[in-house]
Amino acid sequence: MQILLAEDDTLLADALSAQLRNHGYAVELAPNGPVAQYLLQRHHFDLAILDLGLPMVDGLSVLRQLRDQGMAILFVTHFLDQVYALCDRITVLRNGEKVRIDTDLVVSNAGPKATVALAGSEAFPADYIARVNNDLRPAANIVINVASREPLINHPGIVTFGKTRRLCNMANLSATCPELAPPDWHLYVAYAVPVPALGDFDSDAEVARALEDLREQFANFDQTKILSIRVMRDDWPAQRSCAGYDLPRETGIEGLWCVGDAVKQYGNGGTQACAETAKIVSDAILAARPRRSAGRV
Ligand SMILES: Cc1cc2nc3c(=O)[nH]c(=O)nc-3n(C[C@H](O)[C@H](O)[C@H](O)COP(=O)(O)OP(=O)(O)OC[C@H]3O[C@@H](n4cnc5c(N)ncnc54)[C@H](O)[C@@H]3O)c2cc1C
Repeated sequence: MQILLAEDDTLLADALSAQLRNHGYAVELAPNGPVAQYLLQRHHFDLAILDLGLPMVDGLSVLRQLRDQGMAILFVTHFLDQVYALCDRITVLRNGEKVRIDTDLVVSNAGPKATVALAGSEAFPADYIARVNNDLRPAANIVINVASREPLINHPGIVTFGKTRRLCNMANLSATCPELAPPDWHLYVAYAVPVPALGDFDSDAEVARALEDLREQFANFDQTKILSIRVMRDDWPAQRSCAGYDLPRETGIEGLWCVGDAVKQYGNGGTQACAETAKIVSDAILAARPRRSAGRV
């Protein structure tokens, strides 16, 4: 299968194309609209994965060229302000401009809460809205980035702590990627979980306890430079819902699916759990829709 991947975010494009190639697909990359148009004129593709926000010529303009080429199209969108009318087509408000996309299938990884906010709660069945409002339990995390001239940990990888108040683990980033730190500096990231782990907590007090742990674990911690402390919580948590509090991937609107860290399989977590949700949803979509030689997804 020949795939065109039109995406200007090089990290995303490289990661996605590597995965697709690992699965045996032939992938051509286009970092902007004109390159995508050029490749489409000269090659046959079975599937085009298009970023709507491509530079120079955007994804929708590239799409116009594809209209009658009988190829499946998958859109990857960046930030949207609002989504209207989720049935045979969707209309999205993007950077103040209304853009209409003909599709009967939308897969969202913005999380159920943001997806409902985008589409409007009136579009969904009441029981789904009740679950979005009541069942999700965002999993909080405190992230502390530290630079040090003296090494704190002598091993590459992640150290896990047992008897601490809040500190859970610390990764030795520059041991694996020295380019992340200036010469003679070491870069670490420490993760701590507040108490309670789910629900409201006093961010300042929880950060103070995590720092106490770090001072206790590393005698020279006060000589380090704390680069940043982020408390990931509420609408921007480490995971949108803790294991055991996930919502279904179906949203109650036919053709609208959620994937990601609020709709995980029980007992799974992190990025691999998110990837698994995408696999489950794509398998369900393919099972319900026999493969078509033409059409849009
Ligand atoms: C600090 C930190 C460290 C972590 N470390 C690990 C780890 O070591 N290992 C691990 O497995 N997991 C880790 N996690 C968890 C993991 O990163 C997340 O669970 C995972 O990235 C969630 O993936 P997702 O696709 O569900 O959501 P996200 O990766 O959050 O993607 C959601 C996307 O939706 C976009 N979006 C939101 N609103 C809109 C809108 N209106 N329009 C369009 N797009 C929108 C966002 O910009 C974002 O790009 C960590 C999380 C954090 C915060």
